[in-house]
Formats: sequence, C-alpha cells, structure tokens
Amino acid sequence: EKEELLTLLDEPSATKDGHPVGLYANVGGTFDIGNAVRYKADGIGLFRTEFLFMETMSSPTLARQTEVYQHAVESLGGRNVIIRLLDTGADKPLPYWPLPREENPFLGIRGIRLLFQKEDILRTQIQALLQASKSGPVGMMIPMIGSLKPIERVRALVEEEKLALGWTEAENLMLGVMIETPAAVQLIKEILDIVDFVSIGTNDLTQYMLAADRGNPSMTDYYDEFHPAVLRSIAHVIKQAGKKAKLNGICGELAGNPLALPFFVGLGVDELSTNASSILKLKKILREIDFTEAENLVEEILRIPTSEGIRMRLHRFLAERD
Ligand code: PEP
Ligand code: MG
Repeated sequence: EKEELLTLLDEPSATKDGHPVGLYANVGGTFDIGNAVRYKADGIGLFRTEFLFMETMSSPTLARQTEVYQHAVESLGGRNVIIRLLDTGADKPLPYWPLPREENPFLGIRGIRLLFQKEDILRTQIQALLQASKSGPVGMMIPMIGSLKPIERVRALVEEEKLALGWTEAENLMLGVMIETPAAVQLIKEILDIVDFVSIGTNDLTQYMLAADRGNPSMTDYYDEFHPAVLRSIAHVIKQAGKKAKLNGICGELAGNPLALPFFVGLGVDELSTNASSILKLKKILREIDFTEAENLVEEILRIPTSEGIRMRLHRFLAERD
C-alpha cells in the first residue's frame, strides 16, 4: 500500500481528466518543511508560526524569523509558501506575553486582534516575511478576519515597512486572509477585491458557524464539518474566488479528509493544504475522480439538508470509483 502510494510522488496532482488541484502542506516548523519536500507538496498552504514563537522565552528576533521563513521558501523551490501571521490568543498563550483572563477566549482577543495590540511584534514579522520573499513567492496570511478594516491596516503596515527598506515593489509577496468566521464568508466578494488569495480554515469556521467549541468533547455531535451550513459556506467562498480568479484553498482538518475531496474538487478549489503525510493518499483518490462528475456531485450535495445525507452521498460517490 505504502509502496504503491510512493509511485505517485512524481505524478501530477490532477483529476483523471487532467484538472489540477494543488496538494499543499500544512507546516509548523523545520521538521514539517522536510516532510513537505519529501512528499513533493505543490506548496505550503499554511505555515503556523505559533510554534516558532513558543520555542523561545521572548518573541523571536527578525534574524531568527527571517532564517526560518527563508528556509521554507528555499526548500519549496519557487512553489507558493503561505505563512500565517502569528495566530495566538487567550487559549494559546505565550509565556512572555501576559493576557487578561477572558470568559470566552475563542470570542476574544486572538489572531490579528492580538497582534494589533503589539504592533512591534507584528512589524517584525512583516519585515521577516518581506525579507523571505526575496527568495521566492510568499503569501502573508492574516488570521481571524471578520471585516475589511484589519486587512487594510495590515496592508498599510506592509507599505510602511517596504518604504522603510526603500522598496517600491515586493513582487513576490502576496497578501491574503484566512476565511474562518461567518462574517468573512458573508463579505467574501469585498474581501476578494482587496486580497491576493484566501484560504478557508474549516476548524474555526465550523466552530463559529455552528456555535460549537472545537475543543469541547461534549460538542462532538454538534461540531460537524459536514454540516450543510459549513459546506454551503465553503462552496460560496470557493466559487466567488474562482469567479474573480483569486488563488483559493482550504487549510483546516477537512482539507485532508478523503470523504470531502470530491466536493472540493467539484467546486474547483485551487489547493488543499494538509499534513504532508496525507498528500499521496489524497493524490491517489484525486487521480480517480472525473472533474465533471464532481461538479455535478456538488450541485447535489448543496441541496442535501443534513450532514448524514451528505456523508452518505459522498461515501457512495467514492465507492463507485473504487
Ligand atoms: C482553522 O481554523 O481551520 C485553521 C487551519 O487554523 P487553526 O487550526 O490553526 O486555528
Ligand atoms: Mg483557525
């Protein structure tokens, strides 16, 4: 089985009829970057920089961050590397960054909301990403977006930092956002007009869409990534991004779930970002799917009102191709 998968390493990530779907890797540090290279990921779709910030007793220096991001970009040899701005918060505290206690940390100061409170840390990270973009394409991805204003604020900071370096252009730097709140889904058209790419974080999107804590074991019946409200939101985002020809992807857990693959393929998603060790398994299934059949499947799935019905339909679709 494993041997058979390895024969797919040099095969393109595409459907049976040649429609490409990038199979990207989620990474958290140097070890994962090695795996992304080993499994020939088509790019890095989510670099979670939180781990880099947890390694040290104070926030990592410009030199250290530049080194790590540059290593990722050089390792991927010209393929996209999407690096997320620090996404920490009350639930994921940093020892050197004391936070006020919050009743509802997931609805509190996290992600970009927190970074705005420490603008020096945000600026250093932006500087490091600008430096890394000298070595290849870098996507700077903003977490926890619910409106346009924080996107514009980050863009203004990027402009200031470019100016400080005396750069007029940063042609290898793209600016994008995580789509992980229902507000971002509703605003997707306007968001797409001011960003270069979007990536759906299905873990948080599911939690916020269904009002069910992603980490609470009593919520397993309610936290359901195949809930029609979640899948319809994903469909809306990917279809709008496709219309505006903006790079779009999915980087939550659901991106690596084979059962969801035909749905994502049929939507015309550009890339799915997952654990590097899942890439070949996904590629095998992807290469057995016919794009037009997946497109028709999507129209069916979007009419099914329950997650049970949706899962059954997806199981049947995959079984017919086995
Ligand atoms: C997500 O929310 O789906 C995501 C990819 O980000 P994280 O799991 O790091 O919150
Ligand atoms: Mg998230």
